[in-house]
Amino acid sequence: MNLECIECGKKHDLSTVANTCSCDGLLEISYDLSEVNFSLKDRTAIPPHVWKYRELLPISGVPVSLMEGGTPLYRCKRLEAECGVKELYVKHEGMNPTGSFKDRGMTVGVSRAAELGIKTVACASTGNTSASMAIYAAKAGMKALVLLPSGYVALGKVAQALMHGATVLAVKGNFDDALLLIQRVCSEKGFYLLNSVNPYRLEGQKTIAFETIDQLATHKNANVPDRVIVPVGNAGNISAIYKGFKEFHELDIINKVPMMTGIQASRSAPIVDAFRRGLAQIEPVAEPQTVATAIRIGNPINAPKALRAIRQSNGAAESVTDQEILKAQKDLARLEGIGVEPASATSLAGLRKLIAQGTIDRDETVVCVTTGHLLKDPEAIMKACRPPIEVDANFDALYSTLSELERS
Ligand SMILES: *Cc1c(COP(=O)(O)O)cnc(C)c1O
Ligand SMILES: [Zn+2]
Repeated sequence: MNLECIECGKKHDLSTVANTCSCDGLLEISYDLSEVNFSLKDRTAIPPHVWKYRELLPISGVPVSLMEGGTPLYRCKRLEAECGVKELYVKHEGMNPTGSFKDRGMTVGVSRAAELGIKTVACASTGNTSASMAIYAAKAGMKALVLLPSGYVALGKVAQALMHGATVLAVKGNFDDALLLIQRVCSEKGFYLLNSVNPYRLEGQKTIAFETIDQLATHKNANVPDRVIVPVGNAGNISAIYKGFKEFHELDIINKVPMMTGIQASRSAPIVDAFRRGLAQIEPVAEPQTVATAIRIGNPINAPKALRAIRQSNGAAESVTDQEILKAQKDLARLEGIGVEPASATSLAGLRKLIAQGTIDRDETVVCVTTGHLLKDPEAIMKACRPPIEVDANFDALYSTLSELERS
């Protein structure tokens, strides 16, 4: 195993707790893949979960695990017909222990913290990272410190962080401000930083790619998807999933790497902007806004990895409006029975937009990743749906309300 800077190539000592190189470049873990051998046949016999792939994970001891991963991959025939694409699957990451994909990264990140003998783990979070860190810190007996952007975190996520015992502080600023603060606190106080700048977290998240391949192998007609569409905030997840596909490709398990396609919310879209303009680096958005609070991020720390993933895989990047996001959320819920929080619905909203533009071919097999569960953000639901109608507790009142509804 190696820990290497993606910018200057410098190899770092595996015992380091630093997440970036002296040149400021992001670090990445790599393996000697000639040492790894498992066959597709062996893998499909075992049900999917994160630690099934431990030969390609950077932890050698007993992990801090709560049975994360193993999320369903749904074939979505009704949406497929509606969008006009050949095959559409949804990998529903809302079905993880805390209801988001963050659990995949956090089981590895907290296992790493345990190896290092860490007492306190910390993160800045738009919500889901904090919920996830809190459960693994609880399981490992560590303290958890969380900085949230005040007023912009969905209720379900704050509730989770609080109940699982994290110290939760609401910073009067946005996520980008909170991340700068927590990075300094971690380096000065010796707390272990568990944002997605931490390369161990991304190792866990790459198992989304592994599971997708193994699960598609059990669906008829499907093997490697042409395209994988991912909601993008701090840009760790799309980078991680790309890394997973690349490793399976290098191991000759798959014959191509899917086109990685990142979707951001239109007023929080620095990566889409850099992709369109062919820039080497993003220009941060100072005041990011969107109903999809999980991806309300103006200065994504993993942008260099994400741009590389999108460009090297011949993928795409697109932004979608809040209105398009909320429509996609409702359609996933009502056409397929898949309940997701707003940020997660950007993958479907992006699919629609890219089909309309002709960027996505109607002949493609597409996997949309839905990142978080519907119940994370009950306030968004109550704004999007008509509330229940009150009726008196008798048949006359009930029937008269029902016939009123039929007429309307
Ligand atoms: C964290 C998160 C994202 C964004 O993932 P990044 O790795 O930060 O790009 C998207 N959707 C949900 C629900 C999330 O919790
Ligand atoms: Zn470097």
